Amino acid sequence: MLDEVIALDRKYYMNTFGDRLPVCFTDGSGMKLIADNGKEYYDYLGGIAVNALGHGHPRFIGALKNQLDKIIHTSSLYYIENQAKLAKKLVESTCADKVFFANSGAEANEGAFKLAKIYFYKKGIEKNEIITLDKSFHGRTLATVAATGQEKYQKPYKPLTPGFIQVEPNNYEAMEAAVTDKTAAIMIELIQGESGVHPMDEEYVQKLRRLCDEKGILLIFDEVQTGIGRTGHLFAHQMYGVYPDIFTAAKALGGGIPIGAVCATAEVASAFEPGDHGTTFGGNPFATAAGLAVLNILEDENLIENANKMGTFFKEKLLKLQSKHSDKITEIRSAGLLIGIELKTEIAKAVFNKLFNDGFLTSLCGGNTIRIAPPLIINKLDIELFVSELDTVLKEI
Ligand SMILES: *Cc1c(COP(=O)(O)O)cnc(C)c1O
Repeated sequence: MLDEVIALDRKYYMNTFGDRLPVCFTDGSGMKLIADNGKEYYDYLGGIAVNALGHGHPRFIGALKNQLDKIIHTSSLYYIENQAKLAKKLVESTCADKVFFANSGAEANEGAFKLAKIYFYKKGIEKNEIITLDKSFHGRTLATVAATGQEKYQKPYKPLTPGFIQVEPNNYEAMEAAVTDKTAAIMIELIQGESGVHPMDEEYVQKLRRLCDEKGILLIFDEVQTGIGRTGHLFAHQMYGVYPDIFTAAKALGGGIPIGAVCATAEVASAFEPGDHGTTFGGNPFATAAGLAVLNILEDENLIENANKMGTFFKEKLLKLQSKHSDKITEIRSAGLLIGIELKTEIAKAVFNKLFNDGFLTSLCGGNTIRIAPPLIINKLDIELFVSELDTVLKEI
């Protein structure tokens, strides 16, 4: 089947992903994915931080099936029970007072930009610029590309949406210098995922909060990758103890069903009045049933606590491995179960490929970092298995 799919993909699908990894999964259970040829893979990437519950989680699948039997979509013209309940759940567990649902991370970030802009517009204050960071990743729509501090994503699409500038991460002076009386918001990822798992310093984030308060600027955290338990906290900002005016979520929120969320304080959210923003699919009964099931299961199975414990265990094991292979592993960076294993650049691609060929799914990001973002159901045996595999690979390379 794989060859047939590759041929169809080459012929009919836009070539945005080039040559993908040569595998086509047809089944999955827990940490495992099964390819069409029967080969088993261990999923340490979780669909890029999406499959928080792993694959085929019985209670999650049950909740989805139950919802499918009832209703999938109605529209934002009508009240939606699951949407209201999911919003309540997010509000009750965070600093947000109000929520809006979109369909993806990029779209949630678009909603955050619009909210930041309209907040000042409605006050009659001319603030419409947003400062983001170099090496950030905020999505693939035009505005989120303008916010993404990576030239490779921006270059073909110039002129970009105006009003976005980037500064060096973890450099408070650079941020302070970039702020003007036109600055509406500062938006950061607390841990930059896509560019190789780079956490922001606690002091830097605290200072940004203070700067925003002093200058009347909104602080936005893009928690699309770091949210929903990934770091051992429901949201990474709870780990930092720094509270934003707006934050976004997506990836793991639907456990694989597309959904994004814009979450904000009551004061900021009140800028959105009827007609100011909208969506056809966002927060529909099916997607919000998925979100509710994900949050309920995380809670009932103590999976956020598990992410915390397993993240610590994983890091300890990796640090030991680093001291053994100090010529090959250059740095371990992590927060909970978002882990970056930085390798000597010349071996990174080969290590990644060998892991893949041996049935261990990870991603290579920032050119030299193996990113691990496994399902939050991961256990010690799964971690030991990965670490011993990586040990073997590093010995051979
Ligand atoms: C993945 C990601 C996005 C984009 O999400 P999509 O659902 O692909 O639009 C935005 N921000 C961060 C931090 C991400 O990791």
